[in-house]
Amino acid sequence: MRILVTGGCGFIGSNFIRHMLRKYPDYEIINLDKLTYAGNPDNLRDVENNKNYEFIRGDICDSKIVGKIVLKVDAIINFAAESHVDNSIRSSREFIQTNVLGTLNLLEFARVNKIKKFLQISTDEVYGSIDKGSFSEDSLVKPSSPYSASKASAELLVMSYVVTHRFPAIISRSSNNYGPCQYPEKIIPLFITNLLEGKKIPLYGDGKNVRDWIHVQDNCEAIDFIFHNGKIGEIYNIGGGTEKENIEVAKFLLGEFDKSESFIEFVEDRKGHDRRYALNCEKLRKLGWKPKVNFDKGLKETVKWYVKNKDWWKRLKK
Ligand code: NAD
Repeated sequence: MRILVTGGCGFIGSNFIRHMLRKYPDYEIINLDKLTYAGNPDNLRDVENNKNYEFIRGDICDSKIVGKIVLKVDAIINFAAESHVDNSIRSSREFIQTNVLGTLNLLEFARVNKIKKFLQISTDEVYGSIDKGSFSEDSLVKPSSPYSASKASAELLVMSYVVTHRFPAIISRSSNNYGPCQYPEKIIPLFITNLLEGKKIPLYGDGKNVRDWIHVQDNCEAIDFIFHNGKIGEIYNIGGGTEKENIEVAKFLLGEFDKSESFIEFVEDRKGHDRRYALNCEKLRKLGWKPKVNFDKGLKETVKWYVKNKDWWKRLKK
């Protein structure tokens, strides 16, 4: 099996490629990544000489490159995206370009070349916010930010290909990931690295926004599981089952660094900030997968990773 993974130099994509190369020694992975500010070849230094791995620098919107690569692969897993909500609020154009038009470009070449499977990596943010209960895969899609709107748009295109062209696609919607190699713009690595630098940690609004955290290794295993066992045309929620208020995460991290709550700096809330995300993951459980990593343990290990890999994040924070 030869798989095109897009956006493989980012946070989840790099963890996923490492996972796949380790678990399936007879699979070949081609990683197509544009290397935006969030793409970092250092994330995959340890596998760059693996004979089953090839890196190609390029844009998923570039028909020439995509057209050539798709001829060589059996399946596509599309991680490539602009992924930071705050950036999408400042400027949305790049989000539509990559997340929507880039996905369309991949779909079109995949359709023409009769790709066997296409897995679209999406997000729980497409549902928008929920005060009580949780979203199942049938819930209404009601994105709040330009980022989540772009991811929802990409999903609609994928599903339209399933219906119109009997295209073999599946969608995964995961909750918030944490773990090694996450760009220090996102809340957990931002807080950890700020604390390592002796700086305060900026908390939006009252800090009571709730996220369901999943360790990136769990998400990679779930994506692998869905890729192999998911049904064509279906959507699968992937949640960690660990709902936390942002302020709880902040206090946990302060505890890890023996810092007082005076290190929290409350800042003006994000525009349109979703209050709570929550996923019902029964569908994936029934299919046979559930998360393994305990949040406290996973977060402590993540802190250790950032302590040990100062060179990695210091270059990015300059
Ligand atoms: P990331 O920002 O760390 O990485 C994105 C990668 O995509 C980078 O390597 C970047 O260079 C690459 N890329 C961007 N535009 C590209 C283009 N036009 N062509 C080729 N490559 C391009 O993102 P991440 O956190 O690893 O997220 C990966 C995927 O998972 C995204 O689709 C995101 O929407 C989704 N997701 C992320 C989370 C999360 O908590 N991080 C949760 C749910 C879903």
